[in-house]
Formats: sequence, C-alpha cells, structure tokens
Amino acid sequence: MGYQVYCDGAYRRSIGSVIGVFIQSEDGNEEFKLSSQLKGKSDVFAAEALAVLAALKHLLKIDVINESIEVFTDNQELVRAINSLNNFSKEDVFAEIYDMKKKFCSITFTWIPRKENVVAHKLCRELFDQKSMERRAKKLKVKYDKDDKYLVESTNVEGLFYKVCLTTLTCSCRHYSLQKKCKHVVAAQLYSERYK
Ligand SMILES: [Zn+2]
Repeated sequence: MGYQVYCDGAYRRSIGSVIGVFIQSEDGNEEFKLSSQLKGKSDVFAAEALAVLAALKHLLKIDVINESIEVFTDNQELVRAINSLNNFSKEDVFAEIYDMKKKFCSITFTWIPRKENVVAHKLCRELFDQKSMERRAKKLKVKYDKDDKYLVESTNVEGLFYKVCLTTLTCSCRHYSLQKKCKHVVAAQLYSERYK
C-alpha cells in the first residue's frame, strides 16, 4: 500500500516557525496529522525542510519503510534541494533528510501548488491561531470561581468578567457564542494548569 505525505512549514514573526504534516494511506483508512512549533529562530525554507524531516520520522515510527511513499511540498526549491542531495551536507537538516530517505524502499519528493497542499497548510495556520490565542490569553486576569468554573476579565471592559466552564469548555462572552472558541477559555485552561 502507498502513502501520500503532505508537508508544509510557515513562519510568523510574532510566533516563529511551525510545521504541518498530513499523511494519508492510499486506501484512505489511515490518517495522521502532525503540527508543532519549532524551537529557536528559523525561516520558511528551514521550516519546510523540517516539516519533511518530521514526516519521514513519523513514517519510520509507523513502520511503512517498505511501502511506496510520495512526499509533497509546495516549496519548489526544497524539492530541488532534496532531489539533488548527494553525499554532502551543508546544513544538518539536509544531512538528516539524506540519511532518512535511504531507509525507504520507494520514496519520491514532488512539488505541488499551494492550493493542493490545503490540509498541511491548514494545520500550520491552526497552530498559529492557537499560539497567538495563548499569547493573548496569558495577559488576561483570571479568578477561580468554584468547581471547574473560572472568571476571566474582558480586555475591553475593566471589571467585566466572563464565566468560563472547563468541563464544557464554554464561555459567556459574545465571541464564544459566535465562534465556539475564545481566549477566555484558553486563559482559564492556562490558569488551571498553573495552579493544579
Ligand atoms: Zn470568552
């Protein structure tokens, strides 16, 4: 059976670099979604390369080295770099990709347009959204109410507290009623983790 692997990396100045990887088996029965924030400074190109590396590591972990693997990325330069890898390494990540790709019986690296890389791209974007929500949530004032309930102060109206319930993951603010998620819930989660 074959596997198709979609990789994407992205960079945002306020957050840094993130990667998104979507792996799908040919028969559609298996799916893996990974996303993570990279430590340290990085740029888009490095993030895209690290996304490929993370994908290869995951493929090893799920033990599909004898399958036919197709890896897709929307970065043309990266595909060119990987496909021309010889026994040299200027950067650690390419040396690692080189070593990893030798472990697979059949693996190809192909460029696809960004619009065909939607799932991996979305994983990156969702992680950015989550991280930026966490950043905003950290600045909020939280008070413990009772049981699993917390009070989180509004950013705009001082002294106005929204009611958050961590069991149902709900909030009494307007944004929550529209989007089914808000920074107050995240703030209460961070608070409860800190004081557990
Ligand atoms: Zn809220």
